[in-house]
Amino acid sequence: MHEWSIAKGIVESLASFQNERKSKIRKVEVGVGHLSGIEAEILRYALETLSETEDLKGVNYMVTIREGRFKCSRCGHSWDFKGSERALEEVSKDRYGVEEPEGLESPLHFFPQLITVFMKCPKCSSSDMDVIGGMDTVIERIVLEGE
Ligand SMILES: [Zn+2]
Repeated sequence: MHEWSIAKGIVESLASFQNERKSKIRKVEVGVGHLSGIEAEILRYALETLSETEDLKGVNYMVTIREGRFKCSRCGHSWDFKGSERALEEVSKDRYGVEEPEGLESPLHFFPQLITVFMKCPKCSSSDMDVIGGMDTVIERIVLEGE
């Protein structure tokens, strides 16, 4: 849903970066936070489509999903979202499932940022944690022509 406005922001920054550097951008790597709710495929399509009308025609976009990362406020342990995903989806589905034509769907499917509500620190079981990665969509690398 927000993919197009995010893509527009990225394309505008790239166009001004290219102007400043007076060089042509060849490749751009974008990291999409798993918890951002952004669909990587839609974002890539939006980037390519919007680049057709700018001076960015022909830029190769690489969009990679970045896992959520958390840090426990009690014991300081940090961990990735990967691995606990399936178990969390089951728990959240049983308790707060959303009715869909194909059956119950986990609310995390629609609101991935709710993940902290269902998660506990794998070390001390505290539910007091900070999200330290996987929330934002960022330009991670820009490769210019000739680099
Ligand atoms: Zn902990």
